[in-house]
Amino acid sequence: DIETVVLDHGFSSPLTDHTGEPFRLIEQAVMETFPGVKTSPYVMTGASDSRFLSRVCDNCIRFAPIYINGQQYGSIHALNEKRVEVFYQPIFSVKEKKFTSAEALVRIRDEKGELVSPAEFIEVAEAKGLIIRLGEEVFRLVCKFIKENKLTEYGIEYVEINLSMIQCAYENLATEFIQIMKEYEIDPKTIVLEITESASIYEKKVLLQNMKALMNEGVRFALDDFGTGYSSLNHIREMPIDVIKIDRCFVEHVGEDDFSDAFVRMVAELASSIGVTVCVEGVENKSQLEMIREMKIRLLQGYLFGRPMKIEDFEKKYL
Ligand code: C2E
Ligand code: CA
Ligand code: CA
Repeated sequence: DIETVVLDHGFSSPLTDHTGEPFRLIEQAVMETFPGVKTSPYVMTGASDSRFLSRVCDNCIRFAPIYINGQQYGSIHALNEKRVEVFYQPIFSVKEKKFTSAEALVRIRDEKGELVSPAEFIEVAEAKGLIIRLGEEVFRLVCKFIKENKLTEYGIEYVEINLSMIQCAYENLATEFIQIMKEYEIDPKTIVLEITESASIYEKKVLLQNMKALMNEGVRFALDDFGTGYSSLNHIREMPIDVIKIDRCFVEHVGEDDFSDAFVRMVAELASSIGVTVCVEGVENKSQLEMIREMKIRLLQGYLFGRPMKIEDFEKKYL
């Protein structure tokens, strides 16, 4: 469905494309913003700053404050105003008895300064073609965090960053990420990218190319939410995966139902025999911890160990 495009005429200068040529938005044109995903042109209205305008043609979604059907689109606005934040949740290593990594989790602050959860905007950002830009901003913020804190000196060996399926299928992902790591002088070994099983099916060829290019630099990969999707163990065979993250729905029921118990046990056994690290997500209480303690699990993550927290709190507590 093509959304109605509302063009505001309040600009002081004409719209130009990336070459400086005057540019006119064609009503109901459809542009391919990234492979396989087409969006109707989003029109900037009310932009007081004409710097944004020149980017319209380059990529119609980038940097532009966006109005859809007359309503300002929140997350891109937040991107422009630097209201995107990254929270960090510590991950505990059973073997080393300390925190050895953290997961980066994106947040947006609304105009009132209240936090908006990714559950509310990731899907929308994906659907509207904003996730590439958002994902890049998250990646940048994490690189900045790593650079400014010398994490490894504090025993935090790497930070995990979530990738949307659409990012995985984006042909320039590896090139852009490698460029950003260079810019921030980040050791790629301090980055683990989390992909989901569905991403490993969708546009598999592009994903594998991206993975290969990033792995050549030293970036590693984790399979997120394991057990919720297709859970074909073939993914682990075919993909160069370093960490499997067992979805929190399993730990929720561990000790209560045989399936969850057996599943966690089985994945842990398999992973340990092929040299893949297992992380159990969503550990909330001691009894869950007791249950999984004797399984071959290396990494634990959940509210019991620490909630996702803003940088300052993470620094105070763990660095
Ligand atoms: P996820 O990747 O599975 O991340 C773990 C989620 O579980 C986080 O929710 C975290 O706060 C929550 N969690 C951690 N420990 C516990 C626990 O003990 N109990 C319970 N009930 N929950 C726990 P959050 O931060 O709201 O993120 C939700 C989802 O949004 C993430 O799920 C991920 O799929 C997505 N997301 C977050 N940040 C990003 C990002 O930068 N990019 C993309 N593409 N997706 C992201
Ligand atoms: Ca994750
Ligand atoms: Ca997860």
